[in-house]
Amino acid sequence: MNQRTNEAMESLELSIVIPLYNESESLTELKQWIDRVLLDRSYEVIFIDDGSKDDSWRVIEELVDSDPNRVIGIRFARNYGKSAALSEGFKAANGRVVVTMDGDLQDSPDEILGLQRKIMEDGYDLVSGWKKKRHDPLSKTIPTKLYNLATRWVSGIHLHDFNCGLKAYRREVVKAIEVQGEMHRYIPILAKDAGFSKIGEQVVAHQSRKYGSSKFGFERFMNGFLDLMTIGFMSRFSRKPMHFFGALGATMFFLSSFGFLMIGGQKLWFLYHGMPAKNIAELSEFYLSLVGMVMGLQFFLTGFLAEMTSRNDARRSQYQIDKRIGRSRQVD
Ligand code: UDP
Ligand code: MG
Repeated sequence: MNQRTNEAMESLELSIVIPLYNESESLTELKQWIDRVLLDRSYEVIFIDDGSKDDSWRVIEELVDSDPNRVIGIRFARNYGKSAALSEGFKAANGRVVVTMDGDLQDSPDEILGLQRKIMEDGYDLVSGWKKKRHDPLSKTIPTKLYNLATRWVSGIHLHDFNCGLKAYRREVVKAIEVQGEMHRYIPILAKDAGFSKIGEQVVAHQSRKYGSSKFGFERFMNGFLDLMTIGFMSRFSRKPMHFFGALGATMFFLSSFGFLMIGGQKLWFLYHGMPAKNIAELSEFYLSLVGMVMGLQFFLTGFLAEMTSRNDARRSQYQIDKRIGRSRQVD
């Protein structure tokens, strides 16, 4: 890359990242709307076609042809999911502020500048949209409320609408996080974990779907809650899994061993005083203690295995440094 392109990218104000799957009817309208809002600002629009089966890619090709300096198209060989599409978009983004939005026209480009302002002027790392007035069926809005409540509780981040597709980020944030699996629902948690704690929200307008249909069914709620458990665990213990499994395993093991000793001691005491005592193998406590000891040991071993695997993860020792002062000492 020559220096001029480098400089041009340095000064790029905004990257608009749009993950999409079968949204051919919306894309041209969406691009025109973005152009109308951003006018003469420096920006790029990155469309990530997540293995669409309709004409989406052809439309993206046309958009690139008609505005080659601003539009980037990326096409997946198959449908990997929204998280994968966002992740690839983040890799490609060069703007100082990165804004994500859905490709179905449900998110309004009119919100982009307000979100950007919050990042640049108010110093936020991440600003999430809040679809306060949703245009979705009730079967979706009610579970969504529950899901947001649970997510607030697990993460300690006070957002009303974690999964809003419309979000803005400082560039450093999107370069630091990895959105895997279906973790797009929890990007604010990933950002907080990566050390970006200035997270805000802004009420945004929401449209009902104009073309096509939603790509997520009811299973989104089940998957969402499972992912929430994973992320709650990961953000607390991924750097020290033994602290979780070890504590659980050791507690179980010692409580059960204590139970075991009590049963044995009681038997000896009865025998010593010549009293009739039940056969130990007939006591349910005996089996409870036995199972507890074995499970405790298993947890402990799982802790060691988890430590061994997480040690291979380079990110384990990556830390977000806020500031560094003084001359660093050279060691030969
Ligand atoms: N999407 C995607 N890959 C998928 C599913 C969805 O890129 O496998 C895109 C979709 O095209 C849209 C955004 O993710 O731009 C949000 O999806 P959708 O509108 O279906 O979700 P909803 O609005 O119902 O939450
Ligand atoms: Mg939608």
